[in-house]
Order: sequence, then structure tokens, then C-alpha cells
Amino acid sequence: PLSKLPNVGLTIFTEMSQLALQENAINLGQGFPDYPMDKQLIGLVNQAMLDGNNQYAHSNGIPLIRQKLAQKVADLYHSNIDPDTQITITPGGTYAIYTALTSFLQKDDEVILFEPAYDCYVPIIELNGAKPVYIQLQAPEYAIDWQEVRSKITNRTKAIIINSPQNPTGSVLSKQDIQELIAVTEGTDIIVISDEVYEHLIFDDLQHESILKYPELLKRGFACFSFGKTYNCTGWKLGYAISAPELMAEFRKVHQFNCFSSFTPTQVALARFLDNKAAYLELGKKMQAKRDFLQNALKNAPFKPLTSHGSYFHCYEYQGGLKETGIDLAKKITAQYKVATIPVSAFYHDGGAPNQILRFCFCKQDTTLEEAGRRLSIFN
Ligand code: PMP
Ligand code: GLN
Repeated sequence: PLSKLPNVGLTIFTEMSQLALQENAINLGQGFPDYPMDKQLIGLVNQAMLDGNNQYAHSNGIPLIRQKLAQKVADLYHSNIDPDTQITITPGGTYAIYTALTSFLQKDDEVILFEPAYDCYVPIIELNGAKPVYIQLQAPEYAIDWQEVRSKITNRTKAIIINSPQNPTGSVLSKQDIQELIAVTEGTDIIVISDEVYEHLIFDDLQHESILKYPELLKRGFACFSFGKTYNCTGWKLGYAISAPELMAEFRKVHQFNCFSSFTPTQVALARFLDNKAAYLELGKKMQAKRDFLQNALKNAPFKPLTSHGSYFHCYEYQGGLKETGIDLAKKITAQYKVATIPVSAFYHDGGAPNQILRFCFCKQDTTLEEAGRRLSIFN
């Protein structure tokens, strides 16, 4: 067969963003801020280019940014990371996840993941000839049933993918979840892929449980990050992976023949900007205010909020008169009420159980959120 991904079409993000454009709708679908990023950081990129940082960077990332990240990890997670052997800068968080999985997956390996799940995991698993093993999280808390995880582990299980704060549900893993994860992976060769791109977007006084805090997990895990989410620049596509030296050596074998290195000017700029701790430490509070602002804007709309403790997203259950479910509902609301969202059905391999849960992205200007609320409040 010609296609390696016969069941894959356009991603839901492309589809809904295109529809939003076509319908002239407010786009609360795809996760990206509609407000400007920090001008000082833009100035630093400009300066980096003028200073001549325009050739290939070191394949692992420029040394200064890796040193600054190791310092950040020491400050936040009290973990000693060697910038030379344990950090690799990548063109985005997706690429970090792709490379981590591709470094290890063999044909017919099994990878456990939790649905609803961010959409890139399954295609990466399948491109490697491995098999996704699904565990369903239940609304409204979307917590992990660790007993079920235990029951799904076989001698083929090569990896488990966790994502906290989670896309699309905004659920957050607790210390107890991490202890369970340690217990189920202890004494096995299972690799933990920890998607932590929303590490700073955490609310309600919860603490982010990075696997970097836990040596038992770091020795068998990859933590994957994205600068796009932290600095309001999703279009920069710059991220990084952190792992144990032996695992990172394998990661780098794949990375050096895939893109070899990442965009140099943004690395130089971010390395200089990373000393500004307020930029990331205050992010959770700001984003929490946006979550609450959207919820207030929707208070007269037929949407019941589920629980979101983090990320850019909040899922709502539609409670109005339309009968459609899943993508049909999201499309109908986009066309009729000019607000685009993402159907949570898109985060299940089989579309999930038919329901009317939609994911709203709230990293938008208050005026955008207010107008979306106004449009959605006029119908029932
Ligand atoms: N993981 C999750 C859960 C995401 O939501 C996203 C994207 N928004 C990514 C990874 C990818 O990040 P990047 O755009 O840096 O590739
Ligand atoms: N992560 C973003 C979201 O969940 C989308 C990224 C993309 O468009 N691939 O909305």
C-alpha cells in the first residue's frame, strides 16, 4: 500500500481553523493566543540575527540555552540535569515527542495512552509499526484508573504517554498519580513519555508534577516541552526534550539525521530571556483568569463547564436544542453562531461515545472571549 497512514486526513485543528476563516467565525478551536507576545523577546531575536547568529546551531541546541534550562529545572524541580548529555533543543514539542518515540519503538511494540488524547500520539506510534493501547478517561474529572493501566500492561508494552496539564481536558496529574506511575513502571523497561508543554499553565494552586522531580521516572522517561506555549509564540516551533543520558544518546541519533539542529536566532534570544522568571511564573495566574473570564462570558449560553485545572482549554457540554454530536455539532455551531471550537470526539481513535462535549480555547483577548460569549448566549 502506498499510504503509511491510510486512516489519517486533515487534522481537526486545520479543519476547524479553515472553517472558522470561511465562516468568519471567532476561532476558539486551535490553541494559539490572539494577543501579542513579549516585544523584548522579539527584540532579542532581531538582535541575535543582527549579531550574526544565522548559521546552523549545535545539533543538541546552543550551549547557553541548555545551561539556562538546566538551571531552570534545578530551580523549579530540584533536579540536577546535565546540559551536555540530557537536554536537546528541538523544532517544537511535537518533534520532541516524535523523536523520543521513534528512538525506541519497534514493530508490534505496544504504547499505552489515555483518551481523549492529543492528536499526534497515535500517528507517531503507527508510523513506527507499533500499536496504541487505549485507556479511556471519564468526564468530568478525566482521572486515570491505575488499576486499568495495570491490566493493560503486557510484555510488549514499550511506553506510556502521559500529558499533564492535559490537552484537551485540562486535567492535571497529582503526586499520587505519579506514585502510581512509578509503581507500575518499576522494574520494567517501559519508557515514560511525559508531554509537559503546558507545565506553566496550571491553575487553582495546583503544582505541576514534572517527571523531572522523580529520578525513578527520569531514568526511564522523556519530558517534552514547547517554548510556544510559555512565551505566546506557537509559530516559533521551538521546544526541547530532557531525559537520562543513555536515552538521550538514542534520541540524538535520530534527531541528527532528521532536522540536525533547530532555528538558531530564537535559541539565542530565549537563552538570554530565560533569566526573566516572572515571564513563566506568572503565566498560570494569567491563564486561570482567562479560563474564568470565558466561563463568565458563557454564563447565559447553553454550555455546562466540565473541570479544567490547566492548559489553554476548557471542555463544555452543550445543553441547547441542537441534536448533532461530535464534529457535526461543532460545525453547526460555527456556521450558525460564528464561534469555532473543537469537538472532543476528535481526540478518540474511534470518535468516542457520541456526545456534545466541545473544547474551548481561552488564550484569547478578553474582547474576543466576551464577543464569543455574546454570540453563543443568544440561542438555546
Ligand atoms: N503536546 C500537546 C498536548 C499540545 O497541545 C501541543 C500543541 N499545541 C504540542 C504537544 C505541540 O507543541 P509544539 O507546537 O511545540 O509542537
Ligand atoms: N496543540 C494545538 C491545539 O491543541 C494545535 C496544534 C496544531 O494545530 N497541530 O489546539
